Amino acid sequence: MNIQINNVLAALPCGGGFTVEARTIYISGGTVVSVGEKPEGFVPDREISGQNRFAIPGLVNSHTHAYMSLLRGCADDMPFNDWLFGRILPLEDKLLGEDFYWGSLLAACELIRGGATAYMDMYPAPEQSARAAHDSGMRAVLTRGLVGESRDDEGGLRRLREAENDMRTFAGCERLTFMLAPHAPYTCAPDYLRAVAEKAKELGVGIHTHASESLNEVETIRARYGCTPVEYFEKAGLFDLHAAAAHCVFLTDNDIDILHDKKVSVLTNPVSNMKLGNGFAPVPKLLERGVNVALGTDSAASNNNLNMLKELGYLTLVHKGVNGDAVSVSAAEGLKIATANGAKALALENVGELKAGMKADIAILDLTCVSMNPRADLISALAYSACGSEVETVIADGQILMENRELKTVDEERVLYESNKIYDRIK
Ligand SMILES: [Zn+2]
Repeated sequence: MNIQINNVLAALPCGGGFTVEARTIYISGGTVVSVGEKPEGFVPDREISGQNRFAIPGLVNSHTHAYMSLLRGCADDMPFNDWLFGRILPLEDKLLGEDFYWGSLLAACELIRGGATAYMDMYPAPEQSARAAHDSGMRAVLTRGLVGESRDDEGGLRRLREAENDMRTFAGCERLTFMLAPHAPYTCAPDYLRAVAEKAKELGVGIHTHASESLNEVETIRARYGCTPVEYFEKAGLFDLHAAAAHCVFLTDNDIDILHDKKVSVLTNPVSNMKLGNGFAPVPKLLERGVNVALGTDSAASNNNLNMLKELGYLTLVHKGVNGDAVSVSAAEGLKIATANGAKALALENVGELKAGMKADIAILDLTCVSMNPRADLISALAYSACGSEVETVIADGQILMENRELKTVDEERVLYESNKIYDRIK
């Protein structure tokens, strides 16, 4: 299908930052074929008015657990260990096959409504998460969560087999790609990690993991292995592959050197880290060292939403406050972290910028919303004023997922009904 977005203010890449200019965007199939000049012979099947509208590259949520949207609001104001072991895991144990599908679609509704077009999902249930991502029309990197006590641990091997099965089942859908997700340093033994790294190499996929989220984790790993979580992963060979590590709140200078030298992306989750009382990743220091930093919400059980514009707001505010530095993580830097850097972390090619030749992943905001006026600086408005409800139309891979705030690929009413039914059963 050919889509033409007429004369819309657009956030275009410019010298490492952004410029906002009125352009007409031409989309053919899944690709932006021109931003400006009409391509020869281009005939639109659909035209979208750009009047009072603002087009941005689709936001990339680099770290979430989509199915956990079912657990939104069920464990708040609790210490990390009570939250995870006392509440979240026992509830999760009650979830059955299709529950994961509905939970993941609940997440998709929220992601699309918030202007996200791509996400990286760490999930435990075979098939259901991938099926939800497929049906939603979003671009997704599906990463099977893996835990294992040894190289021969039957559970650990089964999880690896399930990851491979999902890769085979959904191999025909270009929007879906895969990585392996060893869950965390404290749930994966050294030789299991080595087996995961070997398997990832064999399959030609990257690694998605959690690292240095809490002080307790850092102390546990130091007591067990005499090193930091980042050093532990490096020794196991995980960072010899394309790798992305969520959280990275507690980092030594040596950890930062390793992340830089091994080209590991850091997926920062400011709201989740705050809510669970873990602190903040040293984002300004990582950026200064040249580490690729991407932005994620983590799950709705620790956030409690998947609103990427809200997350962008926190990202661009907290480091100013924590470091006493009002120029730390600017709005433009934040938007790049939430788009192009995210695409890089997810190993997505031609994603994350609004220009010719890129995938047609675009969010269009309604500039008649009060929060976007006066139109002094729309990039600033995204970071400091927008709340997410400004997003009106969302296109991923050239397909319209939401138009005039109406979801096109997901039956939202059904998803809300099923989600509440599941929660009533497990609560
Ligand atoms: Zn996580």
